[in-house]
Amino acid sequence: MALTNSQYDTIMRGYDRRQYENYRRQCARTDEIYEKFPRIREIQEAMSACSIRQAERLFDEEPDALEILRQELSSLRAEKEQILKKAGYPVDYMEMQYTCPDCKDTGYVGQKKCHCFRQKEIELLYSSSRLQSVLEKENFSTLSYDVYDETQRTSMPPIIRTCQEYALNFRKDGKSMLFYGSVGTGKTFLSNCIAKELLDKGFSVIYFTSFQLFELLSGAISGGSENFRQAYEPLLESDLLILDDMGTELSNTFTVSKLFQILNERMLAGKSTIISTNLSLQDFRDIYSERVFSRITSSYTLLKFTGSDIRIRRKIAGSR
Ligand SMILES: [Zn+2]
Repeated sequence: MALTNSQYDTIMRGYDRRQYENYRRQCARTDEIYEKFPRIREIQEAMSACSIRQAERLFDEEPDALEILRQELSSLRAEKEQILKKAGYPVDYMEMQYTCPDCKDTGYVGQKKCHCFRQKEIELLYSSSRLQSVLEKENFSTLSYDVYDETQRTSMPPIIRTCQEYALNFRKDGKSMLFYGSVGTGKTFLSNCIAKELLDKGFSVIYFTSFQLFELLSGAISGGSENFRQAYEPLLESDLLILDDMGTELSNTFTVSKLFQILNERMLAGKSTIISTNLSLQDFRDIYSERVFSRITSSYTLLKFTGSDIRIRRKIAGSR
């Protein structure tokens, strides 16, 4: 699973925070116990002293002395556990309680990422998005030709094939696509199919509805292109960016110029983008400017979706 640097940092910061919080909790539990049972503080201090002496003796050739210390430690531990047990506390109450004992909240087991890290990775990649649950239902294996009308049964197979091949042969080469045409003809469904395929292969995919994207772009960014890169790093760095439902948002020249910058930088960096819109090409150009339009038409594969609205047809079929 390919994370961007900033996504990786976000996850690692999460571990730092978790370690700190767990440490704070351990301190609070220890304070609580010390206050209730001063004897435990004494035991704890005696145990540390023992451990230090034990360490010092390791270099001496005195096996008896070491054995005595070991026994002392174990009887101190037993006394402490007994006090805790008697008072109804778990014996490990004063130990560090890890959220994930497998990696001790470091995210790594040896050199390998822990399962809890993998999970976070997926959450982050699948979710900037509402993708996670959607992709279980919307993928190439659930795609059915039954939903299409007469004309779509002819027009859709080549489109679907193009999408399947796109996902199958996906390389980090900036091949991009524009899905345009009638409402409810399965554009989002197909971009989800591609997203699922690529995420399963370990590519990073970011999904935005145009509404979400333009909300993000409406924020002011001071400074030059370096700040721009930083602010929109995940948008610029993901292997695939999906912009869904373009044309439903409120855009202005400011946000459209940022959109151009993002599409352009991605193109120069060899990153792929899939844009879907219910707009006609004419309307698309009118809204997003000639500059954006010609960038897209000159280098994207254009797929035109036609026919009637699948969702409406389904509803009618369902109400019969
Ligand atoms: Zn873990």
